[in-house]
Amino acid sequence: MNVTDISQETESEILLDEGDHDRFSHYARKADIVESTVTGKPIVALCGKVWVPDRNPDRFPICPKCKELYEQKKAKENS
Ligand SMILES: [Zn+2]
Repeated sequence: MNVTDISQETESEILLDEGDHDRFSHYARKADIVESTVTGKPIVALCGKVWVPDRNPDRFPICPKCKELYEQKKAKENS
């Protein structure tokens, strides 16, 4: 009898705290961030990254891509 244990579903784990992207604070719609702090659900940032906003956004530097997109948007609004 050769029983293989396949109950460990490691691949289904959602790695929200791994990788460089999670070392940043991202920009997102304020309403989404507010909702996420209540529900704890991940939201889509300006750069397309799905992440859970930290309660202390100052802990991480701003995501360069989000910053770029945010400044582009701001420049458009001012022109
Ligand atoms: Zn970002």
